[in-house]
Amino acid sequence: MNNIKQILITTLRDKKTSRALFRQTTHKLAHVLAHEAAEHIKTKTTNIQTPIDSASGLEFGTPIVLVPILRSGIALLPPFLKYFQSASVGVVGLKRDEETAQAHWYYENLPPLTEKEQIIILDPMIATGGTGVETLRKLKEHGIAQKKIIFVSIVCAPEGIEAIKSEFPDITTITVAIDKHLNAQKFIIPGLGDFGDRYFGTE
Ligand code: URA
Repeated sequence: MNNIKQILITTLRDKKTSRALFRQTTHKLAHVLAHEAAEHIKTKTTNIQTPIDSASGLEFGTPIVLVPILRSGIALLPPFLKYFQSASVGVVGLKRDEETAQAHWYYENLPPLTEKEQIIILDPMIATGGTGVETLRKLKEHGIAQKKIIFVSIVCAPEGIEAIKSEFPDITTITVAIDKHLNAQKFIIPGLGDFGDRYFGTE
């Protein structure tokens, strides 16, 4: 892991980190992850005029759809929109039943999808992988190929990554840390606690 990512995730993990710093650090880390995601997206050359001469440059060569999973995925959205400025945004809402740890749908608002779209799913924490798998199944129903999907997270449990990769082996996953395991309450160990509560201030 590179130093910047390691330093930033240390701040996120630290229980002494204030809400303001937690938010700021999440956004910084999301900038780094957006850069990593961009490396996996098709680009095309473009010709532009500088004030002095013509020059060739680069632009994304495919429509991009950002898919934040409510609610924590929202935290990654503003930094990603800075780089994927014309992306459309499809929001999905899945809530984990605290007793069964099963993911239940409560919201879906995706833009029209074709085989052309590059999808970037945003969810900072992959614990059991249940919400991720449900989101990927939904995208499959819409005809999206696995090769067109990048799943961005910050911390994963090995169980969650395994659940996602065993059903969707050809998606690209980008994360900062794969931690040790889940505890009985399905929290990631050592993790960083409840991401949404710390980011939104609902702890
Ligand atoms: N979601 C979180 O916010 N934290 C965990 O440890 C697991 C899921």
